[in-house]
Amino acid sequence: MFGGDRPGGSATSAPGQGALATRTLSKRYGSIVAVDAVDLDLPAGSFFSLLGPSGCGKTTLLRMIAGLEQPDEGTILVDGMDITRLSPERRPFNMVFQRYALFPHLSVFDNVAFGLTTARSERPPRDEVRRRVGDMLALVGLEGLERRWPGQLSGGQQQRVAVARALIRHPRVLLLDEPMSALDRNVRHQVREELLRIHSELGTTFLLVTHDQDEALSISGMVALMNQGHLEQVAKPETLYRRPATLFAARFIGAGTFLDVSIVARSPSVVAVDLAGIRFGAEDTGLTGDRATVLLRPEEVKVTDPGAGRVDGRVLTCTFFGSYYELTASTACGTFRLRDTHLHAPGDAIGVAWPETAGIAYESTPAPPAIIEDIAPPGGPEA
Ligand code: ATP
Repeated sequence: MFGGDRPGGSATSAPGQGALATRTLSKRYGSIVAVDAVDLDLPAGSFFSLLGPSGCGKTTLLRMIAGLEQPDEGTILVDGMDITRLSPERRPFNMVFQRYALFPHLSVFDNVAFGLTTARSERPPRDEVRRRVGDMLALVGLEGLERRWPGQLSGGQQQRVAVARALIRHPRVLLLDEPMSALDRNVRHQVREELLRIHSELGTTFLLVTHDQDEALSISGMVALMNQGHLEQVAKPETLYRRPATLFAARFIGAGTFLDVSIVARSPSVVAVDLAGIRFGAEDTGLTGDRATVLLRPEEVKVTDPGAGRVDGRVLTCTFFGSYYELTASTACGTFRLRDTHLHAPGDAIGVAWPETAGIAYESTPAPPAIIEDIAPPGGPEA
């Protein structure tokens, strides 16, 4: 459902209700800079994801926002108010964790009702508790399960109880720390859909931390991609996939073929490149040197009869993705990742074609371990 109907980065709730910002927020652990001067802006009502490889600093950033970690520098603002020094329970947030953290000895009802009690407040009157817990269980689709114990629920149901408990006090921002990583694939899909529905019903700002790009791209209005403590790119999912700003973003998001080329001519926005004698044009990202790395997305590269494409190759793998097959093919110019509607057997001879102008050319940086990123493409059965 890549590119489908999703909440955008813009406000869907009342203005001044859940706009979250950080300014030069930084955290070091000894010599490790976990979060490096991050400026983040979440409009009220947005569904925002923090995405990035393991160790890039997303959990540290989320924990500082939650108040569970003190920043070395910088500020955190909610609706313009500086909350950097507020204790966690005084921040207008709530958090859903990876493991649902339910109380095993409390019923579903009492687990959700527990969210109404804080260190600073007593529980509201019993009727109000009953009404609010009922509303929350209806919101997450768990009516009728009030008397169950957490141990009698599926993983997806337990995570929905955790979401209900986190939302019952109407936080301005819901922080979600990899909430679907403990769920199996199908359940994850359902919980994603549920979170989207709940978000559009409530208009609460959601900030999700994930290392799963399918999840970030399919669920969020805006994605902040982190790399070594800094924000590499903040963009809509479609922009991150179609116009990655850097080679790191291009390699991390989606799948692609990365070609090492030389630059033979320049025009305002396109460079003419040479790949072992094959000439084509690619989008210029402000190149200064005479070499570049070109990203071709799989959907730009087609299978032809041998001799009818730009280069000939042999099929290495052919994977079924429902409405298409994704192939890898070995050629004299490297390994390509491409799409076709027909099944091909490993070893089949094919031609590989792409348009006169295709792909995006980046300043070359040291090559990664493999030419092809081994990441499932958005739009596959999982997306
Ligand atoms: P993951 O997806 O693996 O959870 P992450 O992107 O959430 O990774 P963080 O947990 O924020 O990354 O860690 C960022 C960096 O800070 C890493 O290099 C990590 O080793 C380091 N780090 C995090 N917490 C501590 C700590 N308490 N003490 C020392 N170093 C830490």
